[in-house]
Amino acid sequence: MKPENLKELVKEDRLIDNFLRLAAMNSPPLHEGEIADLLESDLRKLGFSVVRDNAGMETGGETGNIIATKKGSIPGAVPILLSAHMDTVVPTDGWGYRIEDGVIHSNGNTILGADDKAALASILEAMRVIEETGMPYGDIQVILSIAEEPGLMGLKHLDFSLITAKYAFVYDVDEPVGSIITSAPYHYRISAKIHGRSAHAGMNPEDGISAISIAAKAITEMKLGRIDEETTANIGIINGGSVVNMVPDICNVTGEARSLKIEKLEAQVQHMHETFANATRMHGQEFEFDINRWYDGYSLEESCPVVQMAARAAEKMGITSRICSTGGGSDANIFNAKGIPAVALGIGYRNAHSVKECIAISELAKSTEFMLAKILVAADVAKTPNSDTYLAAPYLR
Ligand SMILES: [Zn+2]
Repeated sequence: MKPENLKELVKEDRLIDNFLRLAAMNSPPLHEGEIADLLESDLRKLGFSVVRDNAGMETGGETGNIIATKKGSIPGAVPILLSAHMDTVVPTDGWGYRIEDGVIHSNGNTILGADDKAALASILEAMRVIEETGMPYGDIQVILSIAEEPGLMGLKHLDFSLITAKYAFVYDVDEPVGSIITSAPYHYRISAKIHGRSAHAGMNPEDGISAISIAAKAITEMKLGRIDEETTANIGIINGGSVVNMVPDICNVTGEARSLKIEKLEAQVQHMHETFANATRMHGQEFEFDINRWYDGYSLEESCPVVQMAARAAEKMGITSRICSTGGGSDANIFNAKGIPAVALGIGYRNAHSVKECIAISELAKSTEFMLAKILVAADVAKTPNSDTYLAAPYLR
């Protein structure tokens, strides 16, 4: 079994059919019940034992996360997990697709859903190849999460007592196949409730203090957008007032900040707080400010075995790998925070979260081959008492 031969093993037509079958299923966040049933049934047929955790109950969703486990054919090989999410953003009603020059596009009215159903299809195809070819593999877990899009909700509630894998590969990034994301930001959400004083807008406006004007003043003074190469900030939602003829006494503002460095993130959030404080003080008003630590960031050394396994798989396959960082979060953030070293991986979709979303069939196939190559490499990483020892891969030479 050689990684350069993987191309012949992946059945492209089957992979595409499967992708389209999954993408056609509506699965917005917390409504993953139907797709989860299908995936569970497929994984069982492929020899996995499957459980679902209580994440659905805890988040108000139709189903929990899927935790599927398959015993390896190589005892002592390092146990790994492959992860993707089952939900998508909207719009998806009236889903359709077209294929043009080897690229699958949405019909232009909905998203395509390659984020992250391309990964779901790749995982199923890779597991089929394993069954058909008898290629060597260590213990494999497949973790399919719910409600990733609204903020990693599913994985935040994952029952980690069910995880036996040592390293995680998260297939969910809009970068070319071969991109290995070794760092991702910490992310805080903030909300401010600004109090003004209401008054009739026509009769006695001088008695009022507009909460919207205070918020506007604060936001104008605030450093937003790209703060530095590691830090970003945004105000995303603002609402205040209820009728046009009243000076508004309340304005709610919601935003976020991210940084690869926790100190920089805290400094930015502090700055956002101070800006609201100054603007309200100037008008003798009050405000409430909430900080929600949305998820933690991560940064892995290149020498970390999970990074090495991915880089080595790419090298053996003859594809270019690229170590990079991202400004977005993924389920890899949660795995890392829980002590399971994880990299997020580019799977080649483009224009995600838009009706222009598309994926090249060649990328879909390459992503599946890359997955198989990592499984081959992991099958060669022996478990030793002090673990993490990276051994040579005899049949990969
Ligand atoms: Zn995604």
